[in-house]
Amino acid sequence: MRREADVAIIGLGPGGATLAFEAARRGLEVSGFDVSRRYTKACGNATPAEGEAALYAEYFDAIKCEVNHFSILVEGREAAEVSTRRPLWVIIDKEKVVSGLREAAEAEGALLVYPPSNAPSGWVVVDARGPYSGGDYILLYRVIARTPRWEAGTALIDFSVSEGGLYWVFPDSHGVVNAGAGFLGLRQPGELRDAVKAYLERLLGPYEVLDERAAPLAVLRPPRLYGKHRIYVGEAAGLVNALSGEGIRQAVASALRLAEALHSCDVHPECSRKRYRTYTRSLEVEASLSKFLLRAVLRAGRRRSSEALEALSTGFWRDFLRGRLARALLRIPLAPRALLRASLMLASAVISRGSSLS
Ligand SMILES: Cc1cc2nc3c(=O)[nH]c(=O)nc-3n(C[C@H](O)[C@H](O)[C@H](O)COP(=O)(O)OP(=O)(O)OC[C@H]3O[C@@H](n4cnc5c(N)ncnc54)[C@H](O)[C@@H]3O)c2cc1C
Repeated sequence: MRREADVAIIGLGPGGATLAFEAARRGLEVSGFDVSRRYTKACGNATPAEGEAALYAEYFDAIKCEVNHFSILVEGREAAEVSTRRPLWVIIDKEKVVSGLREAAEAEGALLVYPPSNAPSGWVVVDARGPYSGGDYILLYRVIARTPRWEAGTALIDFSVSEGGLYWVFPDSHGVVNAGAGFLGLRQPGELRDAVKAYLERLLGPYEVLDERAAPLAVLRPPRLYGKHRIYVGEAAGLVNALSGEGIRQAVASALRLAEALHSCDVHPECSRKRYRTYTRSLEVEASLSKFLLRAVLRAGRRRSSEALEALSTGFWRDFLRGRLARALLRIPLAPRALLRASLMLASAVISRGSSLS
């Protein structure tokens, strides 16, 4: 007889908390551990309105506002305006979603512990520690700022090829924005803070800082769904869109798929790993593709990449913002598309090689 839980989850952010709830609700014995009882990680809090994370946010009454107008800039120059009748994004109260999921998991019988307890053991161990699960990450800085100069329902993304990253300004609540930046080159919080401050002052004039923080993001980590002793979900699995920094939807979606795999395989480790991989294929391809494209953009240099980004159609950006990267790429005209097809194939090849290694 097993003395451990069926599933032990390390890290109870959006990925780990979703898994705790979804696995416990399916009747599995779940134990979970997080270094912090309160989830407070800085984030843009934007997620596609049609994605899994938005569904949980709606369930926990944690949708703060909707976004249906987007300004896409490249090096500060306007590249595209996307406006839609139905919102493409929702801004969520991520902390409320995570605590809602943790409580719901406990109500379903999951045992969740916080320091000074030890990490629990389980038949299957899942690493959901996000960027902290090992490997390289970059630092992002975000500020919550009060300003009278921002239209409700509007988001701005400014790609800075020269700095290898982007600035964002998203709505947060009435008269309040969530803004920030992350670059491959800049690693010091002070440098990032100065860059964001200068950017916001140019854009908004004076503003009042309500909260400011830096947090890590595993941008270039290649997808790995499992190793010898652990299964990974969310950012720990490298499931982040490297071009946009989007990772909430992928964390929630991968956790949901893992709960389905564990349940349908009766927690048999080998079967669960394989089924999880099959269920998560599209997220894995999306993440690999985004990382490959980010590298390609950086390698092509500022002028060529900026021109290419500025030439992308509104349709491309609409799909991109919806979190449908592969579909967005198919909207690109023929010549570059051949290149993208090649990248798609390369991404799949990289994934297959990864699976034979793990
Ligand atoms: C500044 C910033 C802005 C972002 N903006 C957006 C955005 O607008 N939209 C979007 O989709 N994504 C955004 N992201 C990415 C998104 O936040 C992450 O990809 C997402 O939260 C990943 O969820 P996760 O559950 O995999 O990991 P995390 O959210 O990182 O959660 C990991 C959990 O593990 C815990 N933990 C860490 N170490 C240990 C340990 N040793 N033992 C136990 N527990 C541990 C942590 O306390 C945490 O609760 C942003 C990221 C940053 C940094």
